[in-house]
Amino acid sequence: MLIDSHVNLHAPQFAQDRDEVIARARSAGVGLMVTICDKVSNFEAVRAIAHAHPDIWCTVGTHPHEAKEDPDLAAEPLIALAADPRVVGVGECGLDYHYDLSPRDVQRRVFAAHIAAARATGLPLVVHTREADADMAAMLRQAHAEGPFKLLLHCYTSGAELAREAAAMGAWFSVSGIATFKAAEDVRAVIRDMPDDRIIVETDCPYLAPAPYRGRRNEPAYIGHVLAKLAEIRGWSPEEAEARTTDAFFNLFDRIPRP
Ligand SMILES: [Zn+2]
Repeated sequence: MLIDSHVNLHAPQFAQDRDEVIARARSAGVGLMVTICDKVSNFEAVRAIAHAHPDIWCTVGTHPHEAKEDPDLAAEPLIALAADPRVVGVGECGLDYHYDLSPRDVQRRVFAAHIAAARATGLPLVVHTREADADMAAMLRQAHAEGPFKLLLHCYTSGAELAREAAAMGAWFSVSGIATFKAAEDVRAVIRDMPDDRIIVETDCPYLAPAPYRGRRNEPAYIGHVLAKLAEIRGWSPEEAEARTTDAFFNLFDRIPRP
């Protein structure tokens, strides 16, 4: 079974043909997907998709780009929404200093609320981090010292040092289609050092289509290309890559019953 751990199925790019996209994923062998909430105001739409499909689960949270929609977001509403039995993670949340679409202090405050919600619910925190290594490491370090929580650094393209520090805190990592891009040798170098029992794969569709689809709209049916690249980078057979990432996925997203 293939698993796509990070899809954005409520995105407008799928408005015309969402059911066909989901059907193509199943035909390609994708047995499970986690559809990601990008802002709490979209949670109803995200949740509806997970409730309509037994093989699709969801998260609740606000992306750093969207943090400005509710600069004072607290842990409590996230915890309340996470009581929905289809919710299996908190996020995506984090810091993005590349685009700076929300003020950095707001990004940090909203991210801290998500960490608190992950700790309180026991659900894994789905983290987005870009060009914010020092602040991300500092926030994770402090939060980790205050009490444990499960952590996924999704679509990881940041530095080796942050990866090492997060790995030491028990973090999981997810690999996306970026690993297939010709120029992404630095990303592949970091993937080579990730803990071998805490790596999972994602498409992050509709964004970041893997080679040979780069530049097109991405969809979960392409996850096999990401998994094949991960196997090649790590020197794993295709079967071993599938088995390892499946085990890692269910250890992380432990609210999802393993089929
Ligand atoms: Zn992201």
